[in-house]
Amino acid sequence: MLNAEIIDKDEEIVKFVNDLLEKAVKEGVSDVHIEPQATNTRVRFRKDGKLYIPEGYDNIPKQLHDYIIAQVKILTGTMNLDVKDQPQGGKIKKTIMDKEYVLRLLLYPTIHGESINIYKMDINMQDISIEDLCNNDDKLIEMFRRNINRKEGLILFTGPIGSGKSTFINTTIKELSGTDKKIRTVEPIVETQLENTDQFLLSDKLSMTGALRQACQGDVDVLYIGRMHNFEIAHIGLEIGSNDGYLVLSSMYTNNTPDTLFRFTDLGIKKDLTASALKFAIGIRLQEKLCPHCSEKADYSEKELKNIGLTDEDIKIGNFRKKVGCPKCYNKGYVGKVAIIEMLEYTPTIMKAFVNGADRDEIEKIAREEDVYRSFAEDTRVKFLNGDIDLVAARIFVLS
Ligand SMILES: [Zn+2]
Repeated sequence: MLNAEIIDKDEEIVKFVNDLLEKAVKEGVSDVHIEPQATNTRVRFRKDGKLYIPEGYDNIPKQLHDYIIAQVKILTGTMNLDVKDQPQGGKIKKTIMDKEYVLRLLLYPTIHGESINIYKMDINMQDISIEDLCNNDDKLIEMFRRNINRKEGLILFTGPIGSGKSTFINTTIKELSGTDKKIRTVEPIVETQLENTDQFLLSDKLSMTGALRQACQGDVDVLYIGRMHNFEIAHIGLEIGSNDGYLVLSSMYTNNTPDTLFRFTDLGIKKDLTASALKFAIGIRLQEKLCPHCSEKADYSEKELKNIGLTDEDIKIGNFRKKVGCPKCYNKGYVGKVAIIEMLEYTPTIMKAFVNGADRDEIEKIAREEDVYRSFAEDTRVKFLNGDIDLVAARIFVLS
């Protein structure tokens, strides 16, 4: 660990920062804070919403703070070392455990010096494929690809903040951004720069709705709208998507894909408009992935397994695993995340029923009859039988 005597040793500071970033990625945290206090520097991680001081990082001497800040700034390649009294934003590109990460960070002045926040680390994996995201499940891959390659309509990515929506959206845009499609994006804040894509810059003079009206002018095939959270944005998005020749991608906070239909009605949208534009939704949640190096066979009781809806056949074929802990997973038993996915294709039959007043359960029933629905519970079952997640994670979705 660092002590005040090593000020001259640049490589110790370099190692300190590298080790810290690596530890954060391995622990699967969402944020890292490096906070100057009156007499020391505090390092904290946030995971599953809770802040904590990582093991071995308590009490960093204050004398080293400026050196740590300087090293972080150097890693971004863009931040100004001399500017210490203004906020700065930047990115660090780093390969950790054979994966390239782009870590976004914010640096801002406080009364005790500059404070660093590296944020949204857990949803920031780069160069991940549709196959990876769909866990190489052929049915999910086919359903997803078929829908994102539509010529028109609205496609929604749903889930709470930190659920991995952004990763899915960026991967989708990347896949679509070949040479034969013109893509524009309109978001309140551009978080990830994408190649072969026009990303609208909003300003005080250009609001979200104003930008959307402009973005669908001229020649465009795919339009990505940051988030549909109010009537105005949802209305414009649906209108654009209901016209020939425009595919609209967007995100929304809903619990599951059948509920998504009714969310538009809650926002004040007429059912006819929703029915004419909305074609497909994907829901995403992240769960702890069992470490493949150390997980071991689990003897869950038949009662426990039947309680989460497994059949005799499931119990016979399941590769049930539980966590152990090894050096590769820092003894946590988990490494990284696995995406639990839900997909629903809104067929003409479903939309007709929706317009005619069908409730959520009826919509779900039709979707199952038409084989266009894969629920969180079903996807959880697949991943539990595969040994990707343990019983604790499996219960969350099956019983909710
Ligand atoms: Zn392990």
